[in-house]
Amino acid sequence: MFRKILIANRGEIALRIIRACKLLGIKTVLVFSEADRYSLGVKHADEAYCIGPPQSSKSYLNIPNIIAAAEISGADAIHPGYGFLAENADFAEVCESCGIKFIGPSSRVISLMGDKIAARKVMYEAGVPVIPGTFEPVEAEKSALSVAKEFGFPLIIKAAGGGGGRGMRLVRDENELKGALMVAKSEAEAAFNNGSVYMEKYIEGARHIEVQVLGDGRGNVVHFFERDCSIQRRHQKLIEESPATGIPQRVKEKILESAVIGAKAINYESAGTLEFLVDENDNFYFMEMNTRIQVEHPVTEMVTGHDLVKYQILVAGEESLPIKQEDIVQRGHAIECRINAEDPYNSFLPSTGTLKLFSLPGGPGIRIDTAIYNEIEITSYYDSLIAKLISWGLNRDDAIARMRNALGEFLIEGLKTTIPLYLQIMDDPEYISGNISINFLEERGFLNEGRSERRYLS
Ligand code: ADP
Repeated sequence: MFRKILIANRGEIALRIIRACKLLGIKTVLVFSEADRYSLGVKHADEAYCIGPPQSSKSYLNIPNIIAAAEISGADAIHPGYGFLAENADFAEVCESCGIKFIGPSSRVISLMGDKIAARKVMYEAGVPVIPGTFEPVEAEKSALSVAKEFGFPLIIKAAGGGGGRGMRLVRDENELKGALMVAKSEAEAAFNNGSVYMEKYIEGARHIEVQVLGDGRGNVVHFFERDCSIQRRHQKLIEESPATGIPQRVKEKILESAVIGAKAINYESAGTLEFLVDENDNFYFMEMNTRIQVEHPVTEMVTGHDLVKYQILVAGEESLPIKQEDIVQRGHAIECRINAEDPYNSFLPSTGTLKLFSLPGGPGIRIDTAIYNEIEITSYYDSLIAKLISWGLNRDDAIARMRNALGEFLIEGLKTTIPLYLQIMDDPEYISGNISINFLEERGFLNEGRSERRYLS
């Protein structure tokens, strides 16, 4: 087993990894930017090294500095968390060549799944249903038109190297096609350094269902059931839950089975997630695979009781699965709200400044993953996630009720957050009845301009 793990990340996930390492008796090294000098992660890690100025490109993405910190501290493994370098195949390769274990899959698998076109192909060949669409990049308008004829509108143009909900364009009819293709290609080039795009049928009213898997890189894979991540804004998740509600058991089982088949097909090692869309007729399609721990992993931990980050480390160190499929069961229901420092009533404008924390929620079934403290400075250098609030209950209604209480107890001043929006959602009759889809926030008017906290609370 490893003696010392370097954590190449920040915020709540850095703390989460430190906690898992402590359970395993492994020493931790945290690298941090100048903006995070006073972070809780720096306080709780055994060692910490400043690797650069606040800008991510100069610190959390600075591979030479991170590797230097690993060498100086004598770390034998690196945990990348999520975001930053977590799905960077070059970084994984550098770690491999320096004899430092990258806690995640091999660089080969990262780059295979990082190319969404290649991922679609591999999964299709393994017998996993994929979203109807192209298996080659779409270059010219002419070929885009023939694809449109084959699959029909609406379509979605996606960047092969995309991520984080970016690099996607919805095309409703033929008139929009040419412009959308051009914009999508140039956006993809600018954002991902890869102008390659492909086309898929747009699945109207779909649910985003994903499956948590864990593999040992030798063909053994277990799943930890599913999560529903349909509550999204601009293709980015805001609320997640497990189990998924309103999907027939036999369909769920098929999705779980497909996820395991898919992960086995690439000899997957580590924790990973296969994402699917489920249409209104309960047909399901593979969308993409994330080769890292996900932001929303706590809902799975709450319903299964297993520690996914600990397992990630164990698998990386010992090469065999620490758990059998029959020992993984779902109990009760969990919901996660991503508390972002954003104004939900003003186009989700990021909110920065000094946070005044008056109280964190508590009580039975409540978990908070956060690295905030009173008077912490929230800057615009990093993403706006400041806390993850997770509730667990014996059933979905209990989890919602506990979430409602916890959101009400979460007292922050000095910054706008998404908490008031989540309070409204927890009272929304359609949400309560489980009638959700990726279009939920839009359809229920939660994204309308001119909304106010008051209107919804009255
Ligand atoms: P990213 O890697 O950027 O997160 P994904 O491929 O995972 O991109 O898609 C993110 C979200 O975009 C999905 O959860 C879904 O809401 C929407 N989306 C993606 N592809 C489609 C599609 N073919 N039809 C409908 N919605 C889609």
